[in-house]
Amino acid sequence: MMAQYFSLKADHTDKLVFYRMGDFYELFYDDAVKAARLLDITLTTRGSSAGEPIKMCGIPFHSLEPYLAKLVKLGESIAICEQVGDPATSKGPVERKVMRVVTPGTLTDAALLDDKQENRLLAIRFIKGKIGMAWLSLASGDFALMDSEVEKIGSELERLRPAEILVPEGTELALLDQLRIPVRRISTWQFENDSAKRNLTRHFSVHDLAGFGVEDNMLALGAAGALLEYVRSTQGGALPALAGLRVESKTQYIELDAATRRNLELTETIRGEAAPTLFSLLDHCATGMGSRLLAHWLHHPLRSHGKILERQNAITTLLEQGTSEHLHQNLREIADIERIVSRIALRSARPRDLASLRSSLLILPSIAEQLPHNGLFRGLAAALHAEPAVATLLSAAIQAEPGVLIREGGVIADGFSADLDELRNIQSNCGDFLTALEQRERERTGIATLRVEYNRVAGFFIEITNSYLGQVPDDYRRRQTMKNAERYITPELKTFEEKALSANERALALEKQLYETVIDTLQPYLAALRLAGQAVATLDVLVCLAQRAFIAGYIAPSFCDEAVLNIEAGRHPVVEEQIDDFIPNSADFHLARKLLLITGPNMGGKSTYMRQVALIVLLAHIGSYVPAQSAKIGRIDRIFTRIGASDDLAGGRSTFMVEMTETANILNNANEYSLVLMDEVGRGTSTFDGLALAWSIARSLIEKNHSYTLFATHYFELTRLAQDYPQVSNVHLDAVEHKDRIVFLHAVQDGPASQSYGIAVASLAGVPRDVVRLAKRKLLDLEQNSLTNGPQADLFAANNYVNEIDTEIHPVIEALEAINIDELSPRDALQLIYRLQELI
Ligand code: ADP
Repeated sequence: MMAQYFSLKADHTDKLVFYRMGDFYELFYDDAVKAARLLDITLTTRGSSAGEPIKMCGIPFHSLEPYLAKLVKLGESIAICEQVGDPATSKGPVERKVMRVVTPGTLTDAALLDDKQENRLLAIRFIKGKIGMAWLSLASGDFALMDSEVEKIGSELERLRPAEILVPEGTELALLDQLRIPVRRISTWQFENDSAKRNLTRHFSVHDLAGFGVEDNMLALGAAGALLEYVRSTQGGALPALAGLRVESKTQYIELDAATRRNLELTETIRGEAAPTLFSLLDHCATGMGSRLLAHWLHHPLRSHGKILERQNAITTLLEQGTSEHLHQNLREIADIERIVSRIALRSARPRDLASLRSSLLILPSIAEQLPHNGLFRGLAAALHAEPAVATLLSAAIQAEPGVLIREGGVIADGFSADLDELRNIQSNCGDFLTALEQRERERTGIATLRVEYNRVAGFFIEITNSYLGQVPDDYRRRQTMKNAERYITPELKTFEEKALSANERALALEKQLYETVIDTLQPYLAALRLAGQAVATLDVLVCLAQRAFIAGYIAPSFCDEAVLNIEAGRHPVVEEQIDDFIPNSADFHLARKLLLITGPNMGGKSTYMRQVALIVLLAHIGSYVPAQSAKIGRIDRIFTRIGASDDLAGGRSTFMVEMTETANILNNANEYSLVLMDEVGRGTSTFDGLALAWSIARSLIEKNHSYTLFATHYFELTRLAQDYPQVSNVHLDAVEHKDRIVFLHAVQDGPASQSYGIAVASLAGVPRDVVRLAKRKLLDLEQNSLTNGPQADLFAANNYVNEIDTEIHPVIEALEAINIDELSPRDALQLIYRLQELI
């Protein structure tokens, strides 16, 4: 048996092998040690191999699911090995096979999946600074690919949040090892484009992939091929019904880099918690499908104003008609159609999946009828009227409340199969037959206490108490002797017994077979059902956004193509829910006003203000209403943020390094269609260093990037930039000192802040009085010194440096940078000097 184990384990060295032995799944050796630790179960030993006791642990087969769920959450993969031979007939150990491989990225089982989260498997391939990515959600059938650049990988991972990643063997990328996501390295050849193309065209039964918008030279193609093969290997050869192949393009969505997705706390707080986030605020969706789509929308704000307005108009219609609540209640009755469809495709759907699919399909038409007859709703209504044939089939085939497992029966409805009905009749007529027999035999023998009965051990029998044994007829055969009675069988009863027992077995087998046929019959309808599921999800999100808009008083933003961003009385959607009196604030950008320099005390509301502008812009671009009195938004392609101090200690980068890396990304990539949020840049280093950097970064943003910029700073000196650049405006958040306390006003006002209040805040926070007093005296000192030692602020007057930014790098400097001095011969050096002079 161990030999059999070793040969199976050899194919699954990177997984935990669950080895079925009777009523248990057993794990051996290192697998056992690891599983015992992770699952907190007892580690034992049994027998020995090569003189060493064999370590093992086990779990009962009927409680497999919760253990799987726990392991998969911890990032483990499991190969489940079942007994396929018949223990009664096999010589030696029963034949076993790995029937299923469960990995974090290939889950489909309802018990193992989070309702509200898409579970994605991602494959990435790297070639010369480019990456090809393909991702798949097995549970919903969504399959997409995209080419991108290596620098974008952080952002893509943050956006897609895969549960598992496949890369070619030998891929070295520090980022991958720092993730808390399992990374699986598979053979490089599996990432080849040619075989990928063959597999994909075969899978989708198409001549080529052009119809999906996939080009032959896409890097992602190879990743898609590797993905498909991997999935096939985990599903015992079955492949899911994929919804098609989507090619995502960078220009479809507003780009958000990894830091921005985190900083804006879209679906996770900066600390990694699930709430409060924009998603946790908005998600009152009625279905898991809706919640997952909402999370997707939040991470994929659209660029196309046309598409955005389709959604926005739909929300407007819902608000006008006031039907949201009713629709929401109806949608709550709908099961997770997307996931059920995938399980049907993988032939792992349970009877109750089919029952809930049926009841959902019966409700969908009435939902469709409530929909308005315009815009997006037309398409949604059409999709909701999915194939009435499916509901009809399921109503005819599946019982109203089917059993949990097909092998236990009670699943197929009466009337669906004449054969099954007959077999079931035999069983249910059993009772009548036995009563009749009992009656007849009593009359024949004259024994009034004669009883005909059944139990599992003895089968059917006629029981006669000892006092009547003399009256037993000849054709009675003794079956069992009891203390006070004898049990008999007659030829008639024997025939009946055979029929009844085998009827039960045959009924179960037939039910299983009929169930398989139902699953087969459903296959051609899966695409339509999936569309119905997507329509439910879309409707659910629109209803949810309409309800939010209604409850929280959001308005419909308007869009234009000019360089404008104007928000009147905007609010931070999440913060306004957490405090009683949120003060709305406006933000106004146009060509002549592109950078807002925000000053004010700590805790004054600077971060909140900046984030609310970004969140309003983001919400507007998913089609939602926004928390403001009015909002007019021009073209925006990207949002960048540099907010808050977060040490990336795991990544080996200090706070300041993180800050500067994020800043570099912004300076290198932001343009006039970008919205940039800069919070307290330069804080992580010494005062002068930081001030100098903040100042030059702000200037670059004004002169080179031309982005819409919100620049919060505690360096008061920067407020002078407004004098040098007309595009820069100072705004500030104020506080008033009241007796010994400080009161924040949270209202954004024009002009620079008057003082920094740092000491007042320190005192408020409970810094001891003598320390505060000393700081006040020192501050006075410093201020007087800087006055006597010349005006420090002048150092940062912009005109001293006018030509330094935006001038191109001189070719001489470039040439000098390019040389490697240690490799220069004296003669080369001489020639270099000639060349440099020429360049000058
Ligand atoms: P800063 O970035 O200036 O240090 P924050 O933006 O972090 O300040 O705000 C500090 C706190 O002030 C927030 O947690 C919030 O409770 C409150 N606050 C911020 N903005 C507002 C506002 N507009 N209205 C009411 N309270 C606000």
